[in-house]
Amino acid sequence: LSEPFLQAEPIMITLEERGYESFLVGGAVRDFFANRPIGDIDIATNATPEEVQRIFPRTVPVGIDHGTILVLHNGFSFEITTYRTEGEYDDYRHPSDVSFVKDIKLDLSRRDFTINAIAMDRHGNVLDPFDGKIDLENQIIKTVGSPNERFSEDPLRMLRGVRFVSQLGFQMDSDTEQAIKQLHRLLQRISVERITDEISKLFTHHYINSALNIVSVTNMDRSLPIFDEQEHLFEKLKTIKFHESLNHAGIMFAIFHLLDPNISVQKWIKTYKVSNRIRRKALHLINNYNDYQEKGLTKPVIYSIGKDHLYDFYQLIGLLDLVNLKFNVLLDSYEHLPIKSRDDLVINGQDFINWFPNEKKGKWIGDYLDQIEKLIITEELRNNRDEIESRVREWKARERG
Ligand code: ATP
Ligand code: MG
Repeated sequence: LSEPFLQAEPIMITLEERGYESFLVGGAVRDFFANRPIGDIDIATNATPEEVQRIFPRTVPVGIDHGTILVLHNGFSFEITTYRTEGEYDDYRHPSDVSFVKDIKLDLSRRDFTINAIAMDRHGNVLDPFDGKIDLENQIIKTVGSPNERFSEDPLRMLRGVRFVSQLGFQMDSDTEQAIKQLHRLLQRISVERITDEISKLFTHHYINSALNIVSVTNMDRSLPIFDEQEHLFEKLKTIKFHESLNHAGIMFAIFHLLDPNISVQKWIKTYKVSNRIRRKALHLINNYNDYQEKGLTKPVIYSIGKDHLYDFYQLIGLLDLVNLKFNVLLDSYEHLPIKSRDDLVINGQDFINWFPNEKKGKWIGDYLDQIEKLIITEELRNNRDEIESRVREWKARERG
């Protein structure tokens, strides 16, 4: 085995020494043959999850119901999954019964797309019963077996297919596409968390417009929450030219809301059961976007966006307003702000209390801090103790009349 799989070799050797088989599978093998950087390494084995847990000292049972154990080794982690087939999906969330099987070929046959159904052993021997390598070469996303059957088993695969279009820039096989046209309504039975996860991934990859185009020709948008009730939303979304991947799924929900501000952020967030991390980013971007629409890219607006969100904000205005701004220019404006956060103020609330020992503590302290902060950002006041103190004393004197 060579790079990039070298780190997995000791794990595979250990399994084999115990008399088990082990194969590299999934996205890493696909990306390797597509000459792309690989992500997480998945290993398939005929050892049961319990056996995997017994063999390796450091494991986490991340998906034990599906036969998946995470193995930690030398600072890397590997998902080891027992060969399995899948039973019926009675609730369209999880297969109702997972049966472990003896043969890697059966395991490959339950996988979604041919390009994801290639296995490689540690000597570099390849098992490719569904001609995934040919489809990789022709850049085609095609289901393993009948698309109608595979999508009926797990409708999420339709959305995964579109996500892989965005990820790889491949074409969708025409039978596969046709099946989505017929079956997209089955997506309504899928748990919204799985949908949100795949849609979010779609937007963090590169070929977003190609993927949206397939959503459009298959009418899949008619089976996606909120888009199904408001056709104009998807029409608007399609007109946006996504020339690069979004760095964070939060931008996606900010865009969804801004396509039609009559549909509240709350509605998007609740319907799609957005994770806290994504929700916070979306709300922050939307609030600053609204401020920016009102006031332009003023210093207080740039300050409020903050460094951590600056690139995301830059992407957002580039997409929605076609603003022709270089990121470096925006970053430069940020770097030149007199302060970057409230922690940079040379004073804090305690100073106000010290300056006015007879004054009752209360809301005025926060209000004063806000005003001082604002004046410093706009460079109407310097971040200097004496200057701040005399300004505040002026205010107090005026208040007292
Ligand atoms: P990525 O590079 O985004 O991780 P991936 O192909 O590894 O892509 P995962 O979601 O990590 O995608 O899944 C790992 C593998 O498990 C897939 O390559 C595929 O073989 C199989 N798989 C995942 N989800 C499904 C599904 N819903 N139906 C069938 N097979 C699936
Ligand atoms: Mg993966």
